[in-house]
Order: sequence, then structure tokens, then C-alpha cells
Amino acid sequence: MFKKNDDMQKRTYCPLAWTHSFINQDGSYQVCCSSEEFDNFIRNNQNEKMYIQEGHTSSDVMNSNFMKELRLKMLNGQWPSLCERCRLTEELGGTSRRQVEIRSFENQNQNFIESTAPDGHIKTPVTSLDYRLGNLCNLQCRMCNPRSTKLWIKEWNQLKPKDEQFSSETMDSYNKYDWINSPKLIEDFKQKAKNLTHIHFAGGEPLLAPQMSAILETCIASKNAANITITYNTNLTILPQKILNLWKHFKGVKILASIDAIGELNNYIRHFSQWDKIDQNLKFIEKNHQKYKIEECMLSVTVQALNVLRLNEIYEYLEQFNFLVPVPNLINLHVPQYYQTKILPPKVKFLASQRLKNIKERYENKIPSYYKYLTDNISHIIEFMNSENHFQKDLFYQFLKFQTQFDHKKKITLSDAYPEFKMFLEK
Ligand code: SF4
Repeated sequence: MFKKNDDMQKRTYCPLAWTHSFINQDGSYQVCCSSEEFDNFIRNNQNEKMYIQEGHTSSDVMNSNFMKELRLKMLNGQWPSLCERCRLTEELGGTSRRQVEIRSFENQNQNFIESTAPDGHIKTPVTSLDYRLGNLCNLQCRMCNPRSTKLWIKEWNQLKPKDEQFSSETMDSYNKYDWINSPKLIEDFKQKAKNLTHIHFAGGEPLLAPQMSAILETCIASKNAANITITYNTNLTILPQKILNLWKHFKGVKILASIDAIGELNNYIRHFSQWDKIDQNLKFIEKNHQKYKIEECMLSVTVQALNVLRLNEIYEYLEQFNFLVPVPNLINLHVPQYYQTKILPPKVKFLASQRLKNIKERYENKIPSYYKYLTDNISHIIEFMNSENHFQKDLFYQFLKFQTQFDHKKKITLSDAYPEFKMFLEK
């Protein structure tokens, strides 16, 4: 049994290692989505990756040697290597996911720690889930990949540079994320539903996946739905009535709508999007949120070379709403590198920085203090963009080349959606 040790707890403890289950697009159990860029696969005692389709119980996964060792490391004040993103964020003075989760499990942290056996074994039930239901999606966003949308599978190797291409075996595996049709998924939910307080769905596009509705129905049948908050990352191009009706049974629904620009530019970045439909769905949520238990709807914007000059339009668009979160959540894009804001020419970066500073000044005192972190975050966006001093010409031209090739296939042009790039394309 572990004793209270505030110092250690503050340093490296993370409640997700006690109570959270994350299933990625291929059905593999992983530690959490914030550790995805590292080796975060949960392995059995033979060191093999564990998959939901193999029918493991929660205890098989959470008490594998891998998870026991992970927890012991955390309780002994060491950072597991897969938690590098949280470690770095904290070192740079930012707020890590770990710190956010500690706050949300405030009343249970001590109990989690003290009920841990000396070898790391736990009896704590899984209360929080994050399930990526395969790669079925109706969009082909420029910065996305075949792991997250099937619509990239056919064209990826034709359009991407050699070092980003996938072997035919890997590509085949992206075509076979059929674990979501396995009865094991529903059985898994039947085991877990009674203890759950939170489920997060992302994709693919979760509102498209029939399995998502089946999961919600299983939770309703467990009679625990009223204690569960559901959260989504969705492109909000669809909002099926069947799903809205299921939401009424739950404690609440929070929507993070992945939208990167307003109007045609959003359609350009998030290929196959129809802005009119998204606009209509946002207005529907504004009007009907109480009826369908929607507690929050926030725009989540992936900040990249293609939208950083036009973020002001998103803030201005949001001014018409009362229920929607008044400012978006901005997230820096890191991969692919040639989409990062860092690669832009100095003059463009200067202009974008000025515009972002104006946004911060204009909105930071207009929003409730609870959302202040969203405008504080604008400084990090500016810092990240300017963290590379010299112009990375090669990456910028790689960026332009990719847009031109993609546009050629789709019969559209960058300069129509983004006239600011016209002079560079002409050059
Ligand atoms: S510390 Fe960060 S990366 Fe590690 S499990 Fe917690 S949230 Fe995930």
C-alpha cells in the first residue's frame, strides 16, 4: 500500500494509469492519446501488444506487468518515457494533460495511490474511456493520414514524398480496421458500462460509426447512462437525429468540433467538407442544446500554415452565438512538418503574429475567466511559429508543392481559397 507523498504525486503521478482505457484505431490498448507519438502500447506478460478483439478483461490490461511497472515508476517520482509530451509541457511552463487529469480526479487521487499494492496491482475500476472507432471518415483533410481516414488510402502514396509513403502491407492494415464489428467491443462495454463516468469518442468520424450508437445503447441498457458524460472530437459535418435522441439519456455531452477555418477555406483544408452543413449544425446546437443534453460545444482549430493568417475570421464568426464557447481552442500542428506555421516566410509570420496579438487583446477581457486559458494559449501559438529564426525555404516549397499536386487532382487552387499565397505560387 502506498502512503501519501504530496511531492511525488505532484511530480509524476497521473490518474489515467489507474482508471483510463484508451483504444486506438487498430483496436490496440494504449496508455493515453497524449503519449501516441511514443511507444505507448500496453503489452501482455509475453511482451505482445494487447488488442480489444482478443477479449481481455479490464484487469488483464490494467494489471499487466507493463501497467504495474508504469504506475510504480510514477509513484517513485520517475517520468515514464512515453509521458515525454507531458514532461516537456510542464518543463516549458505549460499545463500538461497530466495536470488537467489530476484536477478532474481531485477527489479520487489519494485513494488511487493509497490502494495500490506494493507490486503496482490495483482493484480500481476503469471509469474513463477513449475509443477511436476505426478510420471511417467522410473527409480527406490535407494534414490527415490513412490511419485516421480511409479516404487517404488510395491517393497517399501517389501524392506523398517517398519518406512518408507506406508499404502495401501497412496500407492493407489501414483497410482492415474491422475490429469495430467484433462482438468483443460490445462485450467489453457490457463489462465496463456500470462503472463509467466518461467516454470520449474520436475517429475517423465517430458520428458516422454505427458501432458508436450501439455502444451508447449498451450504456443505456446498463442503467448507468445518467452518470456518464460523453465527449467527442467530430468534424460536425453530420448530426444524426438517432444519435441526438440517444444523448438525452446521458448526464451530458461535450463537443469539440474540428474546424480549421470559416467557409471555403475550411472546405479547402478539410477536403469534402461542406461549410453550409457545418454552419447549420452549429446553429442547431445553439438552439437545441438543452433538449439534447449538450453541455458544451467548442471549436478545436489545428493551427497550421494554411490557416494561421485567417484565424480572426473564426473568432468573429463565433460572436453571433451565446451557447457556443466564445473563442476556439487552438492547437499547434506538428506533423507533417511542412505544414507547421514555423515554415512560413518571415513576412507572413510577422503579419500572422500581429493578427494573433490583436485577437488576444480584443477577446481576452470579453470571455468568462473559466475560458481565459484559451486566449492565454494564443501566446504559445505565436511563440511556436517564431521559434525558428531562419526561413525554412525547402519545407515551405515542399508545402506549396504538396498543395499544388493535391489541387491538381481535385481541380481546385490554393490561391482561390487563400489569395495571400498567390505571389509565392507565381514565383
Ligand atoms: S502523464 Fe501524460 S502522457 Fe503520461 S499517462 Fe498521463 S496524460 Fe498520458
